[in-house]
Formats: sequence, structure tokens, C-alpha cells
Amino acid sequence: MAYTGNKISRKQAQAEAVAQADHVVYFAGRMQIYPKAIKGMVRRFKWAIVVLCLAVYYALPMLRWHRDHGRPDQAVLLDLAHERFYFFNIELWPQEMYILGGLVILAVVSLFLVSSLIGRVWCGYSCPQTVWTDLFMLVERQIEGDRNERIKRDRAPMTFDKAWRKVAKHVSWIAIAFLTGGAWITYYVDAPQFIRQFFTGTASIEAYFFTFLFTALTYLLAGWAREQVCTFMCPWPRFQAAMFDDQTYTVTYETQRGEPRAKGKKDFKEENAGDCIDCGQCVAVCPTGIDIRDGNQLECIGCGLCIDACNEIMDKVGRPKWLITWDTMVGQEAKKQGRHAPVKLIRARTLLYLMILLIGTTFVATAFLTRPHIAIDAQRDRAPFFVMLDHGVILNGYTVSLVNKTQDDEDFDISLGQFDGATIRALGTEQKAANVVHIKVPPDTVGTYKVQVLSPPHSEIGSQTLDFILKDTNSGEQVLAHSMFMGPLSVSGDGN
Ligand code: SF4
Ligand code: SF4
Repeated sequence: MAYTGNKISRKQAQAEAVAQADHVVYFAGRMQIYPKAIKGMVRRFKWAIVVLCLAVYYALPMLRWHRDHGRPDQAVLLDLAHERFYFFNIELWPQEMYILGGLVILAVVSLFLVSSLIGRVWCGYSCPQTVWTDLFMLVERQIEGDRNERIKRDRAPMTFDKAWRKVAKHVSWIAIAFLTGGAWITYYVDAPQFIRQFFTGTASIEAYFFTFLFTALTYLLAGWAREQVCTFMCPWPRFQAAMFDDQTYTVTYETQRGEPRAKGKKDFKEENAGDCIDCGQCVAVCPTGIDIRDGNQLECIGCGLCIDACNEIMDKVGRPKWLITWDTMVGQEAKKQGRHAPVKLIRARTLLYLMILLIGTTFVATAFLTRPHIAIDAQRDRAPFFVMLDHGVILNGYTVSLVNKTQDDEDFDISLGQFDGATIRALGTEQKAANVVHIKVPPDTVGTYKVQVLSPPHSEIGSQTLDFILKDTNSGEQVLAHSMFMGPLSVSGDGN
């Protein structure tokens, strides 16, 4: 069903349709929205954000960045095949992904802070659903015309003119969706190489699958689902209310100024009439089809397009702009009493978010700046649990991984901590002392070695902790891996 009314919101139209139905209706079907194009300050700002987001998304994987030693020259790349994340001159290894995790948490807390200050700006301006829906609507308007033209054509029977416009619109949407899906894959593989392989039929099956999957998702979500995603699918509107308080700026209709509504320009001249002339333009431009005059609603994405629409009308009728504006609940209450409420940015919740951001940023920055360039991991072999040799010597086997994140050969010493008198040995290494072996690890690699640790003779041993100490002999950098050493007492149950 299409929603084409100018003066009532989609929700009111749905409620009326349910009320007029000649049977019990448990579910109000979707009403298609025809948002009207609008010009104005908010729309220009919104277009600027759309262009910026799209430019960054499509262009970033094409950006080259010089890296030596045969590493990829793509500026931003999540190289799953080689387990690396590249961001310009930053390279993260799998062991350092907690830094990315920390950044994601910081981004979420920043969103909390922004939401508590200025409401749903993320939803209205930079959420991918909003950005791509704006782009798809632009294409729709170019091909099928603005609101009234589209409503008229959709109501009319099928003609050649209607058919070619529909086909052209969907082909254009699919082309944009395909570019979007393809661009997503180029964040994971070398972009120019992938484009060549894709069109010569030599890309991997996974690359084709995910390209078409993301193409289909973009087409469906931005072309068809649109406001349904924000209203029903996205969880964010549900719990963002927890970030709002009476000092949060939201898109607001100034009831005290607008009411009682005048019925058109004629009534507007009446003495008691408010500034709202009930033209319905704020409803007609709304991408979610709601009426902001009904107050704050879950469906409102805070895009502010109704502000532009109303400002245009206020200009025409010679009244001050900003009948629909950004304001806080406190601000609105104060205006009703003829007062001005000061802006209050520093509040308990904003302070809390700021504090979390500060602590989190310090933690992530410290973790990033002090991350070691070498790493060691030791896994004790389970079978056999241990081996008893001559003279009561107990042997435990380990698989030790050494990480050299630098671009040079590194000389490493592995020694043992917390186990006096023990001996370490490993195949293919140089024995420096009884408890030290020397290994050269090639650049940018993870070397895996079979290592044996032997207890002193006649040891009465249960389980005991054991540290493998990895030392870069050139830089002196040192890291630890904790493990266990097992002896017969740990099996008999007498061990500790
Ligand atoms: S655009 Fe302004 S004047 Fe027109 S209905 Fe909306 S609030 Fe009233
Ligand atoms: S009510 Fe206004 S701010 Fe809210 S979604 Fe509609 S046009 Fe955007």
C-alpha cells in the first residue's frame, strides 16, 4: 500500500487504514513513502557528509602506500590470507588485534557521548543505511521525478514511459549495489588485482560469493527496505534512549509557537493562530514518513530535513524560521515559560563517557606504543605427558612459536625461568649454555620449533610453572611465555 497523504504521517495513515478495514487487522502492512526533495542548509550539509562517506568508502582501497620487503602496497588492507592488518604505515599482527578491538570500543563510547549531546546524528547523517538510501533516492528522483510525479506515475497503469523508468531505476540501483559489494571485498584483497581477476573470471569463489551477497544486501536495504531498517531491524534506536536526557539536543517542533495550527495561509492571519500553517511539508520530506509535530518518536532519525522544509515555509509566510529546530527538553520548557535555558554540555553521563574515553584512549595508545616487536608462545606436548630418562631425568616436550615482526633477520636466545638446573634443547638451534639456545628467525615470520626441557637428575617433581624467556640479542627486547613442567608426582596425585 502506498502512503501519499500530505497532511498526515505514515503512522496515522496506517492507523486509519486499520480502523477502516472490514475485518480484524493484527498487522498493519507497510505503506510506501515518497519523500519529497528539499533544498536548504541541513540538506546541503547532509549531502556533504554523503559525498565524503562515499568517497572514503570507494577510494580508500585504491590508495597505494609504499612498503618494502614484498609487503602489500595497499594503504588500508585487512589481509586475512596472511593474517595482517595494514593501515598506512601501521601493521598489526593477529596477536595485536586487541588494539583494533579497543578502537572499536572507543568508537562505540564516542557514539554514546555524541548521542547524549546531540541525539541521533549518526542515524541521520553517517550510518551506511542512511548514506546509501540517500544515494538511491537521488537516483530515483533523477529517473522518476520528485514525490508528486512518482505518486502520479505509480497510480497510473503501466505505460512504456513508466516501464523504462522503472527498469532504468533498478538497473542503476543494482549497478551502485554491485560497486558497493565489490568495494567491500577490496578491503580484504589487493584492489587492482581483484578487479582484474574478477572480470577475467579468475577471482576466488569466495570473492564472487561475497561480492554478490553484498550487492544483493545493498540493493535490498537501500532500495527496498529503507526506513524499515531503521524502524524495525536496527537495535540502535531501541537502546539509544538510555543515552538521552532532558539536555540532549533533538529535532523538535516548537509547540508553544506553532499551535494552534492555522488551516492554511488565510487562517494564519487570525490573531490566535500559531505559526504552523499545517502545510504538511515537514511530513512530505521526512524519509521515515512521520510527523515531527507529534513529538519525539522512535522512527525519527534526526536528519533535520523537516527543519529545511519548515524554514522554507516560514520564509514564504513571513514568520521567523526555526519553528522546527534542534533543542533540548529543558530548552523547550523554558521557552514555554518565556525564559532562556543555558546549554549544559557537562553532565553526569557526558562526564562518565568522557572519562571512559580518556582512560580507554590512554590504554589503547599505551598498548600500541609499547607493543613488542617479538613474541613467544609455548604449548606443552600432551602425548607423552613426560618421559623418564636415565638417572631420573624427566623430559617434557613443547611446541614453541617465535614471532619476528621486524623486517630483518633476528637473533634470539631462548632461556628458562623458574626452573633451576633444567636444560633446554631444540633441533636446528645452537646450544649456547645448558639452559640457553640460540635461534635465527627470518624477517616477518612466525617460526615453530620443537623444544625439549630436561629436569636435573633424580628430580622429585610434580607439576611446576616454567617460563620461556625470549630475548632479542640485538635490541635486548625480552618477552615471556608461561607454561608448566610435569613430572611423575603430578600423575600420582602427590604433585602440587
Ligand atoms: S512545515 Fe512547518 S508550517 Fe508546515 S506543517 Fe510542518 S511545522 Fe507546520
Ligand atoms: S521527523 Fe524530521 S528529523 Fe525526524 S526523520 Fe523525519 S525529517 Fe528527519
